[in-house]
Amino acid sequence: MGMLGEPMGASGQKIRDIATALLSRPDEIMLEVGAGGELLVARLRVVVAAMLLLLPLVNAMTGGTVAETMIGLAGAVFVNVFAQVWLALARRKRRFQWLPFASGAYDATAATLVLILLAFNDLPSALNSMIVWCGYVLAIVLTALRSDGRVTLFVGALTIAQYALLIFVVFAIAASPENLISSEYGTVTLSNQVQRLVLLVIFTLITTIVVYRMQRLVEMSGTDGLTGLPNRTWLLHRFPRLLDAVRGDGVSLCVALIDLDHFKRINDEVGHQAGDRALLHVVTTLQEQMEEGEWLVRLGGEEFVLLLRKPLGTSWERVDGMRRMVAARRFIPDQGADALPLTFSAGVCSYPNEATDLSSLLRRADLRLNLAKRSGRNRVLARDA
Ligand code: GH3
Ligand code: MG
Ligand code: MG
Repeated sequence: MGMLGEPMGASGQKIRDIATALLSRPDEIMLEVGAGGELLVARLRVVVAAMLLLLPLVNAMTGGTVAETMIGLAGAVFVNVFAQVWLALARRKRRFQWLPFASGAYDATAATLVLILLAFNDLPSALNSMIVWCGYVLAIVLTALRSDGRVTLFVGALTIAQYALLIFVVFAIAASPENLISSEYGTVTLSNQVQRLVLLVIFTLITTIVVYRMQRLVEMSGTDGLTGLPNRTWLLHRFPRLLDAVRGDGVSLCVALIDLDHFKRINDEVGHQAGDRALLHVVTTLQEQMEEGEWLVRLGGEEFVLLLRKPLGTSWERVDGMRRMVAARRFIPDQGADALPLTFSAGVCSYPNEATDLSSLLRRADLRLNLAKRSGRNRVLARDA
């Protein structure tokens, strides 16, 4: 029982984790990825809509009635206008959070409207037109590019609901089974329709899994593998939003660039693996002292960025306190080995007084870091000279 019970409990927990991840609001990086996907889908929609303009033309050339051609043309123009509106919205720099939900709902509903139009001409075609039904599949699958589980589940549920309603109405309208037989579209049967609903459910689930995997990959791309800290990618994406928040609150933000002292020497003396442990040792020490509103990022190698939502003087005190703590903590590279001294040097500068974008802030902090190194290491500088 215990043998069986444990994996069951673990998989239950796993499913709960997946559900939580899919239903939560995406973070900044995911929103960025999703906005790019929305733009891609909007462009695709414009291309598809432009191709739809050809259909009435083909209809006219192959001897269709004028009325048919005009209806087709009106529909194509309508779809093109909407495609341009969605594109304009997706291009905006300031993003609407509802946009992927609305445009996804539009895609599904457009397919339903076309099926309803078809029904006026030939009732069975509403349920048996495979081409238009594929519009549903496209609407669901393309939500994967929005990278937001909530959008996929919403559009999937909406599609399934609309199609189920359509099935219900068509079967209700068709007084006798003969009305469900078409020379062009074949016979509509209930079992076929149920299969199609099940297929829509399957497409929704598959797309949801794709979104989940994508979210995990993006999460990994923003996380450093050795320390688990956010990395440079995370910093580049997150920083503009952090500045927005800081500007809103009217507090200052300080950037501390931290570089461990003589780390090559540590590697040479105890080896690369113990060097990695030394890095973790320092990170743990720093993390223990971090407060709310502070972020530690591994920029690369043995260089870190600490973000502090405090004025320059206070920030210097915080970082210098951390420096003293790191220097005081002994690092034992291996069991029974002698303790190694580990220290760091840092340069601190402040936003918005000294620089207003990430690269200038880092450059400024780097100048001070270099000065700290040249003046003997194991020190924190918040001034140029
Ligand atoms: P300085 O005091 O001037 O900073 O001297 P340093 O030896 O630390 O010089 P520098 O910062 O230029 O070199 C960093 C070294 O850190 C180079 C590399 O061997 C080592 N290093 C970088 N990343 C890692 C890592 O992930 N693990 C280990 N073990 N070593 C790393
Ligand atoms: Mg370095
Ligand atoms: Mg170094």
